[in-house]
Amino acid sequence: MTTAPRAAKTRTVHRTCNLCEATCGVRIDVEGDRVVRVRGDDEDPFSQGYICPKGSTLGALHHDPDRLRRPLVRRNGRLEEASWEEAWRAVDAGFARVFEAHGRSALAILVGNPVTHHLAPSFYLRPLIFSSGTRSLFTASTVDQMPQHVVSGLLWGDPSAFPIPDIDRTDHLLMLGANPIASNGSLFTAPNLPARIKAMRPRGARLVVVDPRRTETAERADEHFFIRPGTDVFWLAALLNVLFAEGLVDLGRLEPWVEGVDEIRALVADLTPERVAPICGIDAATTRREARALARAAAAAVYGRLGVHTVEFGTASAWLIACLNVLTDNFDRPGGVMTTSPVASRIDDREPGGRGWRMGRWKSRVSGRPEVNGELPAACLAEEMETEGEGRLRAALTIATNPVRSYPNSDRLDRAFADLEFHVAVDCYVNETTRHADVILPPPSALEEENYELTFLSNAVRSFAKYAPPVFEREGPADEDLYAKLALVLRGEGPEADPVTLHETLVREAVESLVGDPSSPIGGRDAKEILAALEGHSPVGKLLDLRLRTGWQGDLFGDKEGGISIAKLAEHPHGVDLGPMVERFPARLRTRSGRLELAPPELLADWKRVRAAFDQAVAAATAENGGSVEERSLRLIGRRHVRSNNSWMHNIEPLVSGRSRCTLLVHPEDAAGRGLVNGATCEVRSRVGRVRAEVETSEAMMPGVVSLPHGWGHDVEGMRMRVAKGHPGVPSNVLTDDARMDLASGNAVLNGIPVEVVPVAS
Ligand code: SF4
Repeated sequence: MTTAPRAAKTRTVHRTCNLCEATCGVRIDVEGDRVVRVRGDDEDPFSQGYICPKGSTLGALHHDPDRLRRPLVRRNGRLEEASWEEAWRAVDAGFARVFEAHGRSALAILVGNPVTHHLAPSFYLRPLIFSSGTRSLFTASTVDQMPQHVVSGLLWGDPSAFPIPDIDRTDHLLMLGANPIASNGSLFTAPNLPARIKAMRPRGARLVVVDPRRTETAERADEHFFIRPGTDVFWLAALLNVLFAEGLVDLGRLEPWVEGVDEIRALVADLTPERVAPICGIDAATTRREARALARAAAAAVYGRLGVHTVEFGTASAWLIACLNVLTDNFDRPGGVMTTSPVASRIDDREPGGRGWRMGRWKSRVSGRPEVNGELPAACLAEEMETEGEGRLRAALTIATNPVRSYPNSDRLDRAFADLEFHVAVDCYVNETTRHADVILPPPSALEEENYELTFLSNAVRSFAKYAPPVFEREGPADEDLYAKLALVLRGEGPEADPVTLHETLVREAVESLVGDPSSPIGGRDAKEILAALEGHSPVGKLLDLRLRTGWQGDLFGDKEGGISIAKLAEHPHGVDLGPMVERFPARLRTRSGRLELAPPELLADWKRVRAAFDQAVAAATAENGGSVEERSLRLIGRRHVRSNNSWMHNIEPLVSGRSRCTLLVHPEDAAGRGLVNGATCEVRSRVGRVRAEVETSEAMMPGVVSLPHGWGHDVEGMRMRVAKGHPGVPSNVLTDDARMDLASGNAVLNGIPVEVVPVAS
C-alpha cells in the first residue's frame, strides 16, 4: 500500500519587500523550502496591506532557475560553474595581474541600486572601496539623483538629507517629472502612494503634475500641464519670478537662518512667465496661478524627480525646487517638504553649523569631471576605459549593476566592457553586462538574508522600523562574508583570507568610536560591555543592532526602557511606527556658516550655462526658420511601468507576459507628419545610435515628445536569462548620449534626447 505524501506545513513570515523604495510589508507563506504565496501585510502600519505586482513575485525571484547559486569562472572563453575556492583564486589572481601591470587606479568599481536594499553593503562597501585603492567609483546615483545630493550638500550641508514631500499632510503638491503611481515613489518612501494620493482630494488638497506625458499619476491629479523636456528649470524660475514680483515670498520660522534671497531674486528677475512660456509650453496665466497657489496654500510641497534630474540642468532644477519650498515657507514644515528622522540614526541636532560639504576633491582623467560624493559620472565610464594613458581603466568590479543597459550610449559601453582585461561581477544573473565577466560571484537571495531597509527608511514620510530574520537557510556565503572577503582580497590578503577578521574589526571599531565620543548616547560606557550585549547576532546584525540601540529611539543598551533594538523589533513583526516627520531645522544645518545657503557660488556659476541655454532657446523660437535642426527634432523621454524595475526583473514571467510595453509612444500629430502608423515598426535615431520599436500613437504624449521605457534589450549573445530573452524589448540607452551631462553634478542626461523617428518599410 502506498501513502500519499504529507503536505508540508505552511508557515507565514512577515518582511519588507526589498524590490523598490516603497518598503511595503509582505506576508510570505512558505511550505518547506518553497514560497507558496506573497501578499500585502494588512497589519503593517506603514503600508497597510498594499503590494504591487512586483512584490508578489518575491517567491518567483527566489526560485528563478536562472538565478545563480554557485560562482561562474571563465574557462576557455566560457563562463562555467566553479567552487567558491576556485572563484576566489581566480578573483585574487586577476586583480593581482591588473594591479601589477597598471596599478590600482586601473580598477573601476560600479555599484547598482539593488545593493541599497541589503544590509551588508551598507556597512561593508566603504571598507571594500577603501581596500581597493581606486578612486574610480561609479554608481547608479549619476544616472539618477545626483543633482539632489549636490543641492542638499551645498544648501544645508548634508548631501543625504533629502526633502521629502509630506504627502499625508500637504494641501498642495506640485510634482514635476515624477510618476509615483508607476514607480511607487523615489527619494520619497511612502508605501501605497495610490491610496495616499487618493486621500488628498477628500481633505481638499490638490495635486498638480507637470510632465511631457500625461502619466498614470497625472491621470489622478487635479491638474496636469505638459512641459517640454529639459525646460523645467525655466518654468521653475518663472514661478520664483512671480513670487518676488507679487510680494509672495515668506521665509517663516527659518528667516533668520536663510541667506541668498537677493541673489535668487536677481537670477529670476527677467524670467517672467510670458518670456518662458514659448520655451516650456506652459502659458503665462497658468504659471502665475500656480505660483500664487503655492504661496497661498496652508501647506504646499514642490517635488521633482527623474524627469527633472536626468536632464542637462538637473541640478539647477533641483536647486530652484528647493528655493520654491524655502521661499514659500514650506521647507521643514508639516505638509511641506521635511527630512526624515530614521530610527537607526541619532538626532544630534546641536547648534546649526558644521564642516560643510565639498565636491571636486579629484577629477576624472579624460574629461576632468569633478567627483561628487566620492563618485565619478557614469557618462564618463566608457571614455575612461577606452582612452590610452596612465590610469586607463582596465578592470572592473561590478556589483548588482547592469551599465550596458542602464548607462548612456550603451553600445559604446558594451564594447568597452568586452575589451577589459579583467572583470569580477557580484550578481545573481548572467545579463548584458555580466556576460563579459571573468568571474561572477552570486550573492544570497534576499530571502536568505536579514531584512531591514536601512537606506530607504531614511527617506520615509514616517519614522518606521521593521526587522525580519532570514526566511531560508543560505546556499552560499552570507552577503557580509562575500563583501568582507572581496575587501580582503583587494587589499592583497589572498584567496584564503578569513572574512571574520574584517567583521570583528568593523564591529569593534564602531563600538569604540561610539563609547569614545562624549556626545554619543553611550559615550563613556565600557566597550566590552557593549560588545558582549551584541553577541548572538550575525556580523551585520551586530552593526545594525548598534545603530538601532544608539539611535534616537534606541534602548541605549539598557539605559532607556522600552527602546528599540533588534530584539524589540522581533516582538513586532509588522513593524513599529514612530510618527510623521518632525521639524529638524535650523539645528540640522551642517553648512560652515550655519545658514541655509540658498545661493551657493557653485550653483550661481552653473547658472551661466542655464542662461546661455535660455537665450539660445529664445533665439531659436523666434528665428524665421523656426529654430535649429535640433530644436525641430523630436525629444525622447523614458517611462516607468509598475511591473518593471530598471533592467533586472524581466526574467519573471508574470511581470513581462502579455502585450509588449516596450513601444515608442508618439503623439498622433507627430506620427501623421512622419508617416508613422500605430502598431508598425519605426526606427529611432539619435546622435549615438539607432533602435527599432513598435509605434504606439497616444494623445497622452505632448506633441514633439516621444517616449520609450528603459532597461530593456535582452536579446544579446551570452545572456542566461531565458524569460527575459523571450521578451527582449528595445534598449533605450543605445540612444542616450554620454556627451550630454548635467555639468553641475555629473548626472547623465536620459531625458530630452533629440531623435529622428522614421517609418520602417514592412
Ligand atoms: S511597491 Fe515596491 S516595495 Fe511595494 S510591493 Fe511593489 S516593489 Fe515591493
